[in-house]
Amino acid sequence: AKTHGRNRFAFYSPDMAERAHERMAMEQGLMQAIQQQALRLHYQPVVALESGRMIGMEALVRWQHPELGLVPPARFIPVAEESGLIEPIGEWVLQEACRQTRRWQDEGYPHIRMAVNVSVRQMMNDHLVERVAQALAETGIDPQCLELEITETAIQSIEHSRERLRQLKGLGVMIAIDDFGTGFSSLSLLKHLPIDRIKIDRSFVTGLPSDGNDVAITHAIVALAHSLHLELTAEGIESTDQLNHLHQLGVGEGQGYLFRRPEPADALTELLRGGHRF
Ligand code: C2E
Ligand code: CA
Ligand code: CA
Ligand code: CA
Repeated sequence: AKTHGRNRFAFYSPDMAERAHERMAMEQGLMQAIQQQALRLHYQPVVALESGRMIGMEALVRWQHPELGLVPPARFIPVAEESGLIEPIGEWVLQEACRQTRRWQDEGYPHIRMAVNVSVRQMMNDHLVERVAQALAETGIDPQCLELEITETAIQSIEHSRERLRQLKGLGVMIAIDDFGTGFSSLSLLKHLPIDRIKIDRSFVTGLPSDGNDVAITHAIVALAHSLHLELTAEGIESTDQLNHLHQLGVGEGQGYLFRRPEPADALTELLRGGHRF
């Protein structure tokens, strides 16, 4: 017991108290942000690598904070996930992304695909399918235009996820595995789940075309996707070298700062109107 004497105080260190306080403040702030509609969606174009056309958008949430400015999701999604606030946030994201898809359809762009990120908690929630169905019904968009992005970590049980994804597929929406290759069971997911698309994680795209490991892994993912007839999107394309390499490999679609950073819908509407090609 003597040896514990010092360490015990670590549990009550001012540092930890401060962190706990920070977290609570963050939670409270987030709760207000939801009520006061301070969340925003930015959209990042998904580009067909062959034609250079924008064929989709990924919805990415931000928090418009009165003092901190635009807070990126990495700063609040983990807290939201732990506290459960991700549920109302996720629901708002889904609704707003579908509404924006509808606006673009009404503007004369009926084929823009909208990708929405689905969190661990949302995947576990029994109301997910209902909520997706509702968002589709409210906006009247074609279910095929909605793609749900599920990370490997959100798939905590294959059996449970298989049933959930089957129900979602029943609505006609598309399913993508996000950050592919960064989890521990990537290959068994492909075997067991009804998936339409693989998103190659940015961590593999970064090293193209010079890093031998990244090249080997990317080639393997592409070969796998081709033989399983899955669509492919590469994330995080920042250079023309990366773009050319992925295009030559036969990757259909890509996103990244080389094309565009995520931004508010209006800026992208302008781009669509101009018939922009990358
Ligand atoms: P993600 O789903 O992997 O989204 C891609 C992230 O990479 C975005 O960061 C995007 O801005 C960034 N990115 C895109 N192209 C490039 C590039 O060329 N270079 C670099 N360095 N980064 C690039 P963002 O918007 O900060 O989002 C971070 C993460 O937060 C997302 O990663 C996703 O996991 C999560 N997230 C964002 N919005 C939502 C949401 O509505 N719901 C949930 N559950 N998670 C979200
Ligand atoms: Ca994503
Ligand atoms: Ca991703
Ligand atoms: Ca990623």
